[in-house]
Amino acid sequence: MSKKYVCPVCGYDQLDEPAASHSVCSCCGTHFGYHDIGHTWDELRRNWLLKGAPWFSKAVSPPPGWSPVRQVGRLLEMEDIRVTASSSSSTTEVRRVSLTA
Ligand SMILES: [Zn+2]
Repeated sequence: MSKKYVCPVCGYDQLDEPAASHSVCSCCGTHFGYHDIGHTWDELRRNWLLKGAPWFSKAVSPPPGWSPVRQVGRLLEMEDIRVTASSSSSTTEVRRVSLTA
């Protein structure tokens, strides 16, 4: 089993790469190291939700029974992610969020 990572914007937990170094989230389409320059993850999440939380990737399908609302809810329950995200304004160091499943 390969390690999976959680997207700090939408909570999608099947990222193949950490949410850093120009990876792109298949779910919300956030391009890390690009979209999150000048925007916080909270802002990006809000924008994504305001757009109706569309599934981004054409190459990757959403998981069966995928629910963006449940997914974001789960993300916000992860205290570590929230703390990391809210303190992520400047350095790239603190952006490297990874969770073991
Ligand atoms: Zn995402």
